[in-house]
Amino acid sequence: MEDCLFCKIIKGEIPSKKVFENDYVYAFLDIEPQAPFHAVFVPKAHISSANDINDDNAFYIGEIFKAIKQVAKENGLTDGYRIVNNCGESAGQTVFHIHFHLMGKRKFGWPAG
Ligand code: 5GP
Ligand code: ZN
Repeated sequence: MEDCLFCKIIKGEIPSKKVFENDYVYAFLDIEPQAPFHAVFVPKAHISSANDINDDNAFYIGEIFKAIKQVAKENGLTDGYRIVNNCGESAGQTVFHIHFHLMGKRKFGWPAG
């Protein structure tokens, strides 16, 4: 998608601090971190939101969760971590290329905070 911020980050047209990359997944540090460790995981295919997951693209989600597990381990998130997906505007989604936030190295409240 030409006008998608995260497609541009994947292509390197917008710089990012990469923490993981393979054929299916790209992950980078969030520009406005909400925790001492905060990375964003995106599929290397433009899927707008969780509402757009289907039989053809669902494997990207499994690949993302495998990448999350690896990055969490590599970055010492041994006390646990929070994975967040915001789906839709009222849930707080601001970039419409599906992504999963991985946050760690602080205590988290539930259901928010
Ligand atoms: P959302 O609010 O859609 O769930 O998450 C979008 C995330 O992307 C936000 O946490 C925001 O800080 C991050 N973000 C937005 N623009 C950029 C950017 O240009 N670079 C990086 N690294 N993160 C960004
Ligand atoms: Zn995109």
